[in-house]
Amino acid sequence: MQYDFLIVGAGLSGTAAACELASHGSVLLVEAEATPGYHATGRSAALFTPHQGTPLVQAINRASAAFFANPPAEFTDHPMLSLRGGLTIAEPGHEHLLQDLLALSAPGREVHPIDVETALKLAPILRAERIGAAVHEPGVADIDVAALHQGYLRLLKHRGGTLVCGQRINALDHQGGLWTVRTPDAQFQARVIVNAAGAWADHVAALAGVLPIGLVPKRRTAIIVDGLPDLDTRAMPTVDFTATDAYFKPDGDRIMASLGDQDPVEAQDIRPDEWEIALLADWLQHETRLSFKRIGHSWAGLRSFVSDDSPVVGFDDAVPDFFWLAAQGGYGIMMAPTLGRAAAALARHQDLPVELMAQGIDAVDLCRSREATPATVRPDHAI
Ligand SMILES: Cc1cc2nc3c(=O)[nH]c(=O)nc-3n(C[C@H](O)[C@H](O)[C@H](O)COP(=O)(O)OP(=O)(O)OC[C@H]3O[C@@H](n4cnc5c(N)ncnc54)[C@H](O)[C@@H]3O)c2cc1C
Repeated sequence: MQYDFLIVGAGLSGTAAACELASHGSVLLVEAEATPGYHATGRSAALFTPHQGTPLVQAINRASAAFFANPPAEFTDHPMLSLRGGLTIAEPGHEHLLQDLLALSAPGREVHPIDVETALKLAPILRAERIGAAVHEPGVADIDVAALHQGYLRLLKHRGGTLVCGQRINALDHQGGLWTVRTPDAQFQARVIVNAAGAWADHVAALAGVLPIGLVPKRRTAIIVDGLPDLDTRAMPTVDFTATDAYFKPDGDRIMASLGDQDPVEAQDIRPDEWEIALLADWLQHETRLSFKRIGHSWAGLRSFVSDDSPVVGFDDAVPDFFWLAAQGGYGIMMAPTLGRAAAALARHQDLPVELMAQGIDAVDLCRSREATPATVRPDHAI
């Protein structure tokens, strides 16, 4: 069968774009694994942290906030964001590192300095002597990633789109304005390929004879451990540590933590590294009052970046009808609603949606050749 758009990869990025495109043409979403969301999407910390990432990422996050506050009615009957708040701790001697974050404070996205006593009230598992200074961001929230992903999949089906799983694309051939796409046991045809293959985006590009964007998958390791027996930590904020990139947050009545490791690796079904887990467990017990004998759960996921740490969304410069939706790094969950809409507009040769333009984002800021293209961002805009 022939489709207008074939999307490679049913992580959140590909699913959001497929859903948005399904309002405008026939869509096939192809996933290599048996279930959608098996890779990065199913392994995130599920946080909406609007001040993280490059200025472009932050502008995209701002554009996503409206979607999260007011998702389509078909999505879910409960809120997709739950405010948790974020605490950022500067270890003694590193207090100056909070200045950049404080400078991002703006109406509706405040960042407040708070004293050590208040920080300890908010996160009573912290050790007072490990806090040099602290700031609080009320706008940091948990994202219900499963509800978001399922919402897009449901809406995709409702709009007539098709999802096939367990089909790893291993050949892409472009002739006469039409792509022929092969998996070991199926063949499809499509006008436009949307490459949302996560850590494998450069591999998929190679199948199509498209030059790589230099994607580097980076491993991040996380653990979940028990909290303190007589302390309810469920409402605690997320706690980030400026000097190390490490963080922890409540996960129900337990604690999820990561050292913020980012080791470059090959694209793969990544497993956690035992040494990294040991370092993480040691760090967590040093920085907090937690004391645990066993790790409840551990995992690793890939966050994939290009050299400037911003996402790549747009048609390839050299090969026609090949569209990139890649390099979401550590922000792909919160960016998905905005990048899905951006991809659906650009893949149809339309202007970016108004909510992106309102943030000062131009199509050239998202394209693969942006470094070689003069910046179009006006100084009075936000990026
Ligand atoms: C530990 C960790 C914490 C994170 N925390 C956050 C957070 O708090 N907030 C946030 O916004 N982001 C976070 N992220 C980042 C976020 O998870 C990713 O940016 C996002 O999930 C990327 O989604 P994706 O759809 O691009 O990639 P993926 O979810 O990896 O999906 C890509 C899909 O493409 C498929 N595929 C690949 N090759 C082929 C092929 N040849 N044929 C068919 N299918 C193929 C894969 O099987 C995969 O399912 C975190 C990531 C990690 C690892």
